Amino acid sequence: MFNTSHIEISRSAYKSNIRYLKKIIGKEARLSSVIKGNAYGHGVENILPLGEEAGIDHFSVFSANEALDAFKVKKPETRLMIMGHIEDPELEWAVDNEVEFYVFDMGRLEKAIEVAKRTGKKAHIHIEAETGFHRTGFEYEKLPELVQFLKANHDHCVFEGLCTHYAGAESLANYLRVKNQITLYRKFYRYFMRHELFPRYRHTAGSAAALTYPNTIMDMVRFGIAQYGFWPSPETQMFRFKKESVPDHSLKRTLSWKSRVMVVKEVEAGQFVGYGSSYLANKRIRIAVIPVGYSNGFSRSLSNTGRVLIRGRRVPVIGTVTMNTMTVNVSDVPGVEKGDEVVMIGSQKRMSISIASFCEMSNQLNYQLLTRIPADIPRVIVN
Ligand SMILES: *Cc1c(COP(=O)(O)O)cnc(C)c1O
Repeated sequence: MFNTSHIEISRSAYKSNIRYLKKIIGKEARLSSVIKGNAYGHGVENILPLGEEAGIDHFSVFSANEALDAFKVKKPETRLMIMGHIEDPELEWAVDNEVEFYVFDMGRLEKAIEVAKRTGKKAHIHIEAETGFHRTGFEYEKLPELVQFLKANHDHCVFEGLCTHYAGAESLANYLRVKNQITLYRKFYRYFMRHELFPRYRHTAGSAAALTYPNTIMDMVRFGIAQYGFWPSPETQMFRFKKESVPDHSLKRTLSWKSRVMVVKEVEAGQFVGYGSSYLANKRIRIAVIPVGYSNGFSRSLSNTGRVLIRGRRVPVIGTVTMNTMTVNVSDVPGVEKGDEVVMIGSQKRMSISIASFCEMSNQLNYQLLTRIPADIPRVIVN
């Protein structure tokens, strides 16, 4: 396979997650699958077709280059939405190919309308409201100018959506901030209504908001992390746990990450393992070397703390994780040999290493760890 590890993506887990999320948002709301960051490390070329198989007809990305990757694999009728960065020449491409995009300043809107007029195509726009995240979005005070411009150019655009993004819906500590954002969003919406501009979709929620604040679901939800089977935060998981009778099977991990043992050998008592002196063998031990290191996405902070599975047993990483290898202690696992399967994330026999525990050990968020798995590690879809 020309690589030292590979990733398996479970079709059945992915579909089960989509069924679960659709149940939560109800029949009326559309599900947009967020596939930025190479589909949270899963690979756009894997997830987009799986999503289409599961009935998803709308996908969201951050930038135009990500949209182009998605454009190459999607069905013609599947819709794409860019939520963030677009350069001017890319805007032409987006309008020409009916790719939807966020508009959060007059400059982009004017440019989009100019392109639309020139090409005879309509710009499919989502107006982003600044409600308190303080990243992108129109300030409420800008609305008179915005609305006037939209009315004047009504024929050259489709008002696809009115949207915003919540700052901190993953933790109850931000309850008030989120509540204020919902209130301000409604004020934006009423302003557009008063001026008879009706967005096709009101959408504000990502995974955390949709899972914990039902009133943020509206006409569409932009699901990222949850569709891949990961909770936005332990709090979100607890919230659903309390709400549902059979909660634990609600989200299923879609991704497993595996490698093979490269070398097995013995180390005498009194010897150090790896660079420096962070691990001292205090008795004779058996070690296995695995060809995955920090350049392959296995964080160096997992030195002396990480765990992997071999022969259905959890074994500890000893010494420092190097650029291309890690070493584990297999003294307690009989018969380990070169070529044995190693699981960094996923299950083996009855044991499993969840990404959540993995993240706690390495002090990383789910999001960060997933997107740091290098894109060149082969991904295969399994059932
Ligand atoms: C990333 C992102 C999402 C998805 O967030 P998750 O927490 O992964 O569900 C939704 N909306 C916007 C604007 C985003 O940037």
